[in-house]
Amino acid sequence: MSATNRISAVALGPDDRAEREEWLAALARVIDANAYCLGPEVAAFEAKVQSLLDVPHAVGLANGTDALRLGLLALGVGAGDEVVVPAFTFFATASSAAHIGARPVFADVDPATLTLAPAALERALTGRTRAIVPVHLYGQAADMAGIARIAGARGIQILEDAAQAFGVRYRGGPLGALGAAGTFSFYPTKNLGAPGDAGMLITRDAALATRVRALRMHGDAGGYRHEHLGWNARMDGFSAAILSLKLDRLAAVQSARSRNAEYYVRAFADRSLGEHVRLLGRTAGSEHCWHQFVIRARSRDALRAHLAARGIDTGLHYPASLPEQSAFAYLGHRRGEFPAAESAGKEVLALPVHHRLREADLARVAAAIAEFYKDAP
Ligand SMILES: *Cc1c(COP(=O)(O)O)cnc(C)c1O
Repeated sequence: MSATNRISAVALGPDDRAEREEWLAALARVIDANAYCLGPEVAAFEAKVQSLLDVPHAVGLANGTDALRLGLLALGVGAGDEVVVPAFTFFATASSAAHIGARPVFADVDPATLTLAPAALERALTGRTRAIVPVHLYGQAADMAGIARIAGARGIQILEDAAQAFGVRYRGGPLGALGAAGTFSFYPTKNLGAPGDAGMLITRDAALATRVRALRMHGDAGGYRHEHLGWNARMDGFSAAILSLKLDRLAAVQSARSRNAEYYVRAFADRSLGEHVRLLGRTAGSEHCWHQFVIRARSRDALRAHLAARGIDTGLHYPASLPEQSAFAYLGHRRGEFPAAESAGKEVLALPVHHRLREADLARVAAAIAEFYKDAP
């Protein structure tokens, strides 16, 4: 298989020469203005997000992990508090709480959508719970109606981890703006990706936005007067300039991803792969940006190797649940406590779904998967 025939799992960088020229012109603008950290490009990108999502406050940050940490701090979470997070998500959802002295408390996920299960959330709450961080995994919403009902009844704040779901709507409202605040990551592979690390927090709460703006500058209230212990979490001008350009193309990129996802859904329905390949469930009321198109596959690791040998790259998000990670051994969990999250780690596989794929690529992926299972019992 020649390298040119490889089907990549992601499509980074500009799509063509014209877009490359646009990027270079935007980067030149930042250089000419010497506006490297925050500055006019960051302010312009924040304003663009505010108007696109119809939220009053968007704060540009260094990355999605900082957005989570500063968001929790701004909500008043600190040492000794508990923060409920799903047992199956990226590490940073939980480590951001641990880094500010709080205790991440895991709740199992819904076995169909792999997002925070409201019933498990309810069991995880204690008198010390200060915040809940649902994750809109792979690009669709968690069950926000169920989660909000439980949180609202007890007056617990919700910080949405929308790192994988920029621009997605749930029952008409933008993800990230449903709870007290929401966070985005613009890591290059995310559905809206910067040419480097970048992140953002959005909120409808003006006081919360003001706190996060200060926290991203070491808690500086202006003129080196530090009122709180923040740290350096500024977005840079280069990232913001490119993100503004990519925002203009996001709708087109998303419609290509949706078309690709629909192809797979049809292909797997037609090929009657039965129990070998299962698709995830959809959250009622949620759009999907298909940040990842994830299947649950029997003999997942062997299937992954089979696809790699045929020039098809896949992603594995994530190979283990968070309670199984050594970094969280101090929380004292045992195997079997989070069955849905643990089995997800053994079965999930992300297929290429990015906007540059052609139908022939998708057909090749579907055929290679069918070939793998053709003699399986
Ligand atoms: C990517 C991601 C983050 C962290 O974002 P960074 O920009 O990489 O710091 C947090 N949570 C989830 C669910 C993510 O996918």
